[in-house]
Amino acid sequence: MRIWSIANQKGGVGKTTSVVTLGGLLAEQGKRVLLVDLDPHGSLTSYFKHDPDSLERSLYHLFFEQRHKDKAFIQSVLKPTSHQHIHVLPATTSLATLERQVSGQDGMGLVLARSLAQLWDEYDHVLLDTPPILGVLLVNALAACQRLVIPTQTEHLAMKGLERMIHTLKMVMRSQNRSLPYTIVPTLFDRRTLASVTTLREMRKEYRESLWEESIPVDTRLRDASHEGVFPHQLEADSRGVRAYRHLLRDLERQEDAA
Ligand code: ADP
Ligand code: MG
Repeated sequence: MRIWSIANQKGGVGKTTSVVTLGGLLAEQGKRVLLVDLDPHGSLTSYFKHDPDSLERSLYHLFFEQRHKDKAFIQSVLKPTSHQHIHVLPATTSLATLERQVSGQDGMGLVLARSLAQLWDEYDHVLLDTPPILGVLLVNALAACQRLVIPTQTEHLAMKGLERMIHTLKMVMRSQNRSLPYTIVPTLFDRRTLASVTTLREMRKEYRESLWEESIPVDTRLRDASHEGVFPHQLEADSRGVRAYRHLLRDLERQEDAA
């Protein structure tokens, strides 16, 4: 089972869109896919028309009373999406209080990893949509995954935050004695704007090794798909955005196969 985290502490850079689009494309290849919403805002959960304010069970409930070791319980938390072979482990807004409730308790950083281990024969690929704050949820994501994907908006300010964020991620990895491969993915690229073009050029200079060589363009079809609650490839299999994400998936899989 492959597990990737999609992370960036900045909001609005395309994390949730990347999780959904890549997940859809993995299922298109015949993979069984699980998407995990670790963001207390619950945008991934809402994407599929599940309400993070009213769901009875969510990721939150795995953190108490050893329920992350109970496969039947974990499965009872999962929700369907618009694709038969893709499920979502939803968030509820209660996730925002988790930090305060479990901080300092032993083993809380490994809850997600242990839950996913229970599902190893049910899914081929898991994508983790991570929260913007450094806390127990992000620590769980980094402990559970084998690879990091960092979507970054091609805009000067977004790039300035990148350095700090990579530093933070490395700090967490060090505390876990791990080192994960990561790929920075330029998103929301608009070749008609000078800001996009110059930022992409700066990114190429500064992050040569870890930067994906292509970029995800602005594509309103991705926004339309989120409105409909469907996977972008289901709405239009060959829109500019979907095509770019297909290339990204191919390249990430190649890197993974080579590792
Ligand atoms: P994050 O999860 O990092 O906060 P989202 O994936 O929710 O970011 O994206 C923020 C907004 O931008 C959403 O409305 C989404 O539909 C839109 N969006 C994301 N990527 C693209 C893209 N490549 N083209 C057009 N709109 C996009
Ligand atoms: Mg999001």
